[in-house]
Amino acid sequence: MQCEICGAEIKGEPFKINVEGSELNACNRCSQYGTSVSTRKPVSRKNAPVRQGIKKSSKPKKNPVTAPTEELIDEYEQTIREAREEKGLTQEELASNIKEKASLIKKIEKGDIVPEDSVRTKIEQALDIELTEKVGEDDWDTNTLNKGTTLGDIVTIKKK
Ligand SMILES: [Zn+2]
Repeated sequence: MQCEICGAEIKGEPFKINVEGSELNACNRCSQYGTSVSTRKPVSRKNAPVRQGIKKSSKPKKNPVTAPTEELIDEYEQTIREAREEKGLTQEELASNIKEKASLIKKIEKGDIVPEDSVRTKIEQALDIELTEKVGEDDWDTNTLNKGTTLGDIVTIKKK
């Protein structure tokens, strides 16, 4: 007699066990894999609890949203000027800090020109400010609206 589970030779009486509805002759070791049917006594061994309908919690997929683009904030001129004044720097001092011409700072603060990325980064670091905001294309309908952005804000932003 061979164990119908592991194939080992069974010495003595095989264990008759019930595995998912079919009776198998099993060796001592394998008898634990099923419910004993050799006796009429209800099996006290607890079966592994049946998982019933536990759905895998499917995590909502994070949208690999189109990489948010960074845009210069609308009020960059004001932000720069205020941050600079807060640090007690003149336009000239700020300019020399970032090795640019004072006239450039003047123009930027007047909104005459938009600082190019390299300049903007230097200003940001010098003044410890952020002049960009992340704009994800998908944000308009979902995130932005839910964060209490008013319609007015959106109109303002979209006017760009
Ligand atoms: Zn076996």
